Amino acid sequence: MIELDNVSKQYDATVVLQPTNLQVGAGKTVVLIGPSGCGKSTLLRILIGLIPPNTGCVRFQGTTITPDNVLEIRHLMGYVLQDGGLFPHLSVTDNVTLLARFLKSMNAEAMQQRVQELADLTKLPVETLNRFPSQISGGQRQRVAIMRALMLDPPLLLLDEPMGALDPLVRYDLQEDLKQIFRELKKTVVLVTHDMGEAGFFGEDVILMANGRIVQRGQIQDFLQHPAEEFVTQFITAQRIPIVAASQ
Ligand code: ADP
Ligand code: MG
Repeated sequence: MIELDNVSKQYDATVVLQPTNLQVGAGKTVVLIGPSGCGKSTLLRILIGLIPPNTGCVRFQGTTITPDNVLEIRHLMGYVLQDGGLFPHLSVTDNVTLLARFLKSMNAEAMQQRVQELADLTKLPVETLNRFPSQISGGQRQRVAIMRALMLDPPLLLLDEPMGALDPLVRYDLQEDLKQIFRELKKTVVLVTHDMGEAGFFGEDVILMANGRIVQRGQIQDFLQHPAEEFVTQFITAQRIPIVAASQ
């Protein structure tokens, strides 16, 4: 569905992503995990075409992303950031419908209907639709960011630590709801997190990165039982997951 073919990225002499191959199948959820600064956000931004790679290419549904087609292809990708990235001067509804209005791809009635549908799906209270982002809670802001990403019904969703800034109880609810949404909509999903518990909750298919490269891909269980290298064990141990502590 989406793939990286020998993609690398460097800034001046610093390599932030080593030559990387990655394939994500249609309808699959992949979780990217790794310590801060290992290149997760860079990899995601390359997938969505916000950063051009130094080598290699990105293919989306078989088409190589180029400067000519990147804008068009990006409309087939929903992107959610840790802080939501909402425009503070636009209401919730205006944030959600911004791109659809810009592209003139829907009439007003269809847009309103879609917003309602997405509010239901993400469990956003309808009374918040006319408020500004500063007038709703952090958890609600992330629900709005998810609505905005889903507005044009893209086949691919890219989420960069969407729950990273939320307190544990709010995060717990949103994790449950997001998992349900992924299942229901059958989207292809690439989710970035730095939390092993969250990675295990969302995915059978977890990719662990360190220092700009993929160290291991598989289930959390594989990481525990068959670590590809010492770093995998160190990373898991540092997360203090109770099942790991109990087995040591
Ligand atoms: P992560 O999301 O895993 O925390 P990032 O992908 O944001 O990591 O960053 C990976 C590395 O690339 C970091 O060391 C960061 O400082 C560096 N980096 C990211 N963007 C730039 C940039 N525009 N110029 C120089 N270095 C950058
Ligand atoms: Mg990041």
